[in-house]
Amino acid sequence: MSSKYIYLDHAAATPLDPSVLKLMLLFYESNFYNPSAGYIPAIEVRRKIDEARARVAFWLGAKPPEIVFTAGATEANNLAINGIMSKYPKANMLISAIEHESVIAPSQSFNTRNVKVTKDGRIDLEDLKQKLDEKTVLVSVMQANNEIGTIQPIRQVFQIVQTERRRRSGQGLPLYLHTDSAQAANYLDLHTSRLGVDLMSLNGGKIYGPKQTGVLFIKTGVQLSPQIKGGGQERGLRSGTENVAGIIGLAAALDLSQSSRNEEAERLTILRDNFIAELITALPDLQLNGSLKHRLPNNVHITLPGADNERLLMELDGQAILAAAGSACSASSDEPSHVLKAIGSSDEEARGSLRLTLGRSTTEEQLRTVVKVLSSLS
Ligand code: PLP
Repeated sequence: MSSKYIYLDHAAATPLDPSVLKLMLLFYESNFYNPSAGYIPAIEVRRKIDEARARVAFWLGAKPPEIVFTAGATEANNLAINGIMSKYPKANMLISAIEHESVIAPSQSFNTRNVKVTKDGRIDLEDLKQKLDEKTVLVSVMQANNEIGTIQPIRQVFQIVQTERRRRSGQGLPLYLHTDSAQAANYLDLHTSRLGVDLMSLNGGKIYGPKQTGVLFIKTGVQLSPQIKGGGQERGLRSGTENVAGIIGLAAALDLSQSSRNEEAERLTILRDNFIAELITALPDLQLNGSLKHRLPNNVHITLPGADNERLLMELDGQAILAAAGSACSASSDEPSHVLKAIGSSDEEARGSLRLTLGRSTTEEQLRTVVKVLSSLS
């Protein structure tokens, strides 16, 4: 990426790591074979996919057959929700009020209840307990939010799910817990049994890997219907010739992110907290949205009362600072973000909000420049 920009939109996209690109190129050039073919070079490509699957499984504390490669987290979320809920037409599902659109949209085809979040964007566990009933088959709560960066207490959600499972004592409907970890994978533990999840969605485009690559972890025993049918690849759960370079790239990117996640989280937490403190000094009216304690190390989401974020973003753009008002997926919509509404922001507050997301290339000096520019604009 050109260094002429100060890039603060890592929640929307991360640049491809050069070592990941190098690995991927081999599978577009000399190792282009279809992994389902029977000759030796194709079998070698199949073996590379198996290795990639094993690496992803390792970080998720999973078995390789529990990993299904998809074209991104949107597809993984759709497969989880449609795949499970279409099997139980009379059941219901619960989602948090601040899920990504790729969870909300498929959930609307089913009987879905929204679980409230608190003012700082954490799921309201009491509301979850109240809304969970004997007809609930799926609970979907993201591991970390893409707008305000809130980290959700997935383990506590799991405990509530477990209590309901015990109450059912093996009778009646199954109950599954899904988490969308697209924003979490750079910084948080993805070990699925420590979290207690049955399904987890990931993508490559947020972890310095290729876009349109993703994973759905499906715990052994979870039954779901495939949504893309055809040649039976991915154990029949996601047909289509494998995106070999993408799969290799995703696994390599996940390896890099997860193996350096503690150091990178520590570095970014310091940068983020200094940045927030300097912003508050320069702009005393500023409000920080979301939780300070349970927050992704790279997320700063602020409201500048009375400001117009579209104008601010244009002016920032003019000074080579790239940021966002909210989620990139809903950037084209004029509606205030459902996430900000759920935490109680007014339309006016939502209009004055900015999301600045840090990443590997972010430096203290860049953030100092942003503080200067923002205080001159406000
Ligand atoms: N879930 C979350 C939390 C996200 O932030 C995103 C991307 O913005 C997605 C899902 C969708 O991922 P993809 O673009 O890979 O389909």
